Amino acid sequence: MGLPRLTGRAFRDLAAYMTGFGLVVGVVFPYAVMVLGVPGTYALRPGFRVACVVAGLLVGAVNFALARLAVGVRLSRLVVAMAEAAATLRGAADTGSVGRYSTAVLPVDSADELGRAAAAYNDLLREVERSQRIENTVTVLTAATIGSLDVAGLSGRALDAACEHPAVTGGVVGPPGGTAADAWSVRGLRADQVDAVFAADLAPGVGLLPPGPGGGTFAVFRLTDVGRVIGVLGLALSAPPDAAGNRILRVLADHLSVALANARLHEQMTVLARIDDLTGIENRRAGMACLEDEILRSVHTGQPLGLLLLDLDHFKAVNDTYGHRVGDRVLVHVTRVCRAALRPADTLARYGGEELVAILPGADVDAVTVIAERLRRDVAATPARRPEGDAVGVTLTAGGISWTPTVAATDTDALLTAADLALYAGKSDGRNRSVIRSFPPSSDDPVTVSRADAGSA
Ligand code: GH3
Ligand code: MG
Ligand code: MG
Repeated sequence: MGLPRLTGRAFRDLAAYMTGFGLVVGVVFPYAVMVLGVPGTYALRPGFRVACVVAGLLVGAVNFALARLAVGVRLSRLVVAMAEAAATLRGAADTGSVGRYSTAVLPVDSADELGRAAAAYNDLLREVERSQRIENTVTVLTAATIGSLDVAGLSGRALDAACEHPAVTGGVVGPPGGTAADAWSVRGLRADQVDAVFAADLAPGVGLLPPGPGGGTFAVFRLTDVGRVIGVLGLALSAPPDAAGNRILRVLADHLSVALANARLHEQMTVLARIDDLTGIENRRAGMACLEDEILRSVHTGQPLGLLLLDLDHFKAVNDTYGHRVGDRVLVHVTRVCRAALRPADTLARYGGEELVAILPGADVDAVTVIAERLRRDVAATPARRPEGDAVGVTLTAGGISWTPTVAATDTDALLTAADLALYAGKSDGRNRSVIRSFPPSSDDPVTVSRADAGSA
């Protein structure tokens, strides 16, 4: 409950009350001194009464001035500090940074309401700065963990973001049950500390490791995807985290879990989209993409490009004789033999059912011929085995070209059609042979036939 308001301003009200009280005291004072025995002839003399009123008014005015000095100045300081804090808060919100509020802090120089008000205001500033710091850290962590689909990259970025926090001195992210060698990303930890983190057998969620051989405080999180543990996050801390610190660490672990699950899913989808599930080599789509890339590279470098189509001979008979499961086994076996006979820079893809395509960067007609013959011979010489152990022999026919990019720019269809024609020639000519041609055909070098007994197309 306060005094009734007289004007719109608290200090004006105070001035009115103080001078009014002085006036009342000045008027009443002569009567009061009469009660104390001063004769009325003295106390009620007009001069004395005027002097009393003037003295009362003066005391009221001086009281007001002193109150204004003692309280008003402090309140003005609070107003200026609050305006500064508001400007800092606005700037931090606009830029997404953490504001520096130290210049807006007030001195606490009294033990009364004013001192308590200054202390409460300073406390408010501290909490504003702390919650801004938490919000900022969460924002940085979110930015670090989203938008990346590569496991090592996002693990590293999450650790960098975590290390920005003053309490975090290092960390590691890796697969569950791993060792230091398996870590996806490490910051500032020794191998024995990383091993200790991976060896921690913690309940789901976060747990603080007891100081181990490495010493110090570690927070270890299981990173999960729909309840399945897909990784481990360990952070070295300069001190056990408080409630807010724990919340930040948990947010980091949650974000990292989601990002890791996404990255793994993306990795799996990429592999599924690129790899043939029976043979494990690239599928037709990936093979064609590779061919397009190599055509561009050849145009750029001027190097020839070899292309081979490999088709198993009478493969239908293998299926008819032994069944499709053995046919699949033979197909996988032939693929392995072919892959082993190629250079690392060559690409082998499944082109169709029992047809493979080999892309041979830099291979001229002679090189393509040598490679095709090697493949043909190796396949013919290395039969597949049935589960029962007996051999299932198979041969292949290779049709191929060497494209010289200086002759004419072209596309995948033109090269594949030319290679297919060569393959057809090999099939017509009796199978188990290779037919390799220059492309575009040259009158000097119309046809290269690899096997001594193989004729031209
Ligand atoms: P050619 O010498 O003329 O190439 O005779 P071919 O029997 O190999 O050719 P054809 O085109 O008549 O038959 C191809 C066979 O390949 C038929 C098909 O069942 C088999 N095949 C295709 N893909 C697969 C596969 O993934 N697994 C199995 N087991 N067989 C397959
Ligand atoms: Mg075929
Ligand atoms: Mg065939």
